[in-house]
Amino acid sequence: MRPMAECAALFRPTRLSAPGGGEDREIFPHRAIDPDLVEVGRRLFARETRFVAGVAEASMLPPDGLPEIAFAGRSNVGKSSLLNALTGRRGLARTSKTPGRTRQLNFFDLDARLMLVDLPGYGYAEAPKSEVRRWTALLRRYLQTRAGLRRVCLLVDARHGIKDTDSPLIDMLDQSGVSYQIVLTKTDKVGAGQLAMIAERTVAELARHPAAHPEIHLTSALERRGVAALRATLGSFALAAMAPSTVAAPSRPR
Ligand code: GDP
Repeated sequence: MRPMAECAALFRPTRLSAPGGGEDREIFPHRAIDPDLVEVGRRLFARETRFVAGVAEASMLPPDGLPEIAFAGRSNVGKSSLLNALTGRRGLARTSKTPGRTRQLNFFDLDARLMLVDLPGYGYAEAPKSEVRRWTALLRRYLQTRAGLRRVCLLVDARHGIKDTDSPLIDMLDQSGVSYQIVLTKTDKVGAGQLAMIAERTVAELARHPAAHPEIHLTSALERRGVAALRATLGSFALAAMAPSTVAAPSRPR
């Protein structure tokens, strides 16, 4: 719980957009996003992000406490670009990409309000089996034991949708019961018709997975599309962790 003044600073409603003002096509199935929540997300992600730890073994996990959001996806899916777009900083994803850190869980503290966790990209055909086994065990342990973990954003290339290489992680997420949400990346690379088709197919596929969030985010780091909506979704977790009596919270995390 945070002091009242701090909560009020994060949530000071300033309507920048009309209800449903332009953000609604950044979530599928389309719906209007509470503009107050968009503002909460914007303010939150304008704050400082600090690298906390690169973790290669479970014993090294940083203290659990903040609401935590993890980002996962096949290598090259656009995870670094989206993290940079979300936080407005190039340095964050560069830290995760430095040699030695690419197979670690990299933890970033967003102004003591949210922990962002960059999970290693998967799908490298050439990765040694022992390496894959090691990080799979680490990831499973993390997913099963991390109390603060609120959501895993599973990034999927909008051109292809969910692929076989995503299945092991999806199975692990279903087994651990962690709420996860698909975030389509690189939507600028597909036309509106194809995007709608892939989005519909993805949502239909998710219906079979109990831990999957029924909505997906549509993003393009290149065009900054969907960034405000994703910030709003993630901001709701920071807001939910704050003193409930101090804010007329716009809506509960969805
Ligand atoms: P990561 O390996 O998942 O961290 O992926 P990167 O963020 O490094 O991106 C992989 C490649 O995809 C790079 O060449 C990026 O420039 C490109 N990329 C990332 N996001 C986008 C996007 O939104 N649109 C387009 N067109 N390209 C992107």
